[in-house]
Amino acid sequence: MADTILVTGGAGYVGSHVVVELAKAGYAPVVLDNFANSTPAVLPRLQALAGRPIPSVTADVRDAAALRAVFHDHPIAAVVHCAGLKAVGESQERPLAYYDVNVGGAIALAEVMGEAGVATLVFSSSATVYGQPDHLPVPEDAPLRPHSVYGRTKRVVEDFLRDLAKANDNWRIAILRYFNPAGAHSSGMLGEASRGKPANLVPLLCKIAAGELAELAIYGGDWPTADGTGVRDYLHVQDLAEGHVAAMRYLAKAHGAHTLNLGAGRGHSVMEVVAAFEKACGRTIAKAVAPRRPGDVAAYYADPARAAKLLEWRASRDLQVICADAWRWQRNGGRY
Ligand code: NAD
Ligand code: UDP
Repeated sequence: MADTILVTGGAGYVGSHVVVELAKAGYAPVVLDNFANSTPAVLPRLQALAGRPIPSVTADVRDAAALRAVFHDHPIAAVVHCAGLKAVGESQERPLAYYDVNVGGAIALAEVMGEAGVATLVFSSSATVYGQPDHLPVPEDAPLRPHSVYGRTKRVVEDFLRDLAKANDNWRIAILRYFNPAGAHSSGMLGEASRGKPANLVPLLCKIAAGELAELAIYGGDWPTADGTGVRDYLHVQDLAEGHVAAMRYLAKAHGAHTLNLGAGRGHSVMEVVAAFEKACGRTIAKAVAPRRPGDVAAYYADPARAAKLLEWRASRDLQVICADAWRWQRNGGRY
């Protein structure tokens, strides 16, 4: 029988792609989400793409009683924990909400997993835990100096999970530090549909190309990079989702907590992303250089060697595919 995997935040951008890739790999995903930043309208699409029924539970991941019911009702073998709040700017204004959901959610989940005897967990962390890197590419043992409340909640959860695994060797935990997830499912049926105006570069380009937003404000044209604009490691969301499947397979044979970068291992500047997006959509993106965004860094990209070695995973889709798939999703409406 297929292993049943609980995917918290499974209706969200990353979680929805993880659900589909898990199903493709022969697992039986179950979604838990409170739809704080997503909609149940994604669920029929997940079932269509997965080719199997996807049970879903509407619940808050902080609600231990609701979690207990999920573990009672489904033979959960492992968990992928994507549920959380992720807006860097908002986190500065709402630290209580961010610590409560991100840290409180992880604690409630680990507690109920412990009660249920489920010890395999894949956690969505973020490269934002590094802050300003000293060297590029960034390896997992680089210092952790997150700039934002959001980043600090991720660091706290990482520490918590590593402490759990130190205290009890039953745990099998993969802490995945995502670099910049971008793009959409190649079918055009899944993509990023966060509430409100997007803050991330590729979703903004989608809205600008579609005429829903006027122009791109390029946050700084004088960074110490080749063309003066910020450099990031854009990772196709399907590559990222495949990384979760690889982590799940790895945990079947590895105890303890394992911290892994998931990135493509190369950087692209804002100008390069704009050019690739223009090529993908066949339109010109209106843009103007604006002041730097507080908290931004000039450049960072992953050293993905550990994931390549341990998970036998590497990103296979390049920036042009990311832009083409993001644009296909946008042309299909860009929402559920
Ligand atoms: P998302 O907002 O699309 O997905 C998160 C999902 O969690 C949403 O469906 C939301 O409704 C749900 N959720 C929020 N609070 C919840 C709660 N209390 N109980 C149950 N469900 C809740 O975000 P995403 O981009 O898919 O991110 C998924 C995870 O990956 C997050 O933990 C995020 O911090 C992390 N991450 C994302 C990025 C990125 O750029 N997208 C980068 C690094 C890390
Ligand atoms: N960026 C930009 N204008 C925007 C949004 C983003 O110039 O409106 C730049 C940002 O400064 C960074 C890159 O695009 O160099 C990626 O930003 P994003 O917010 O997508 O990801 P981050 O790496 O900041 O999490």
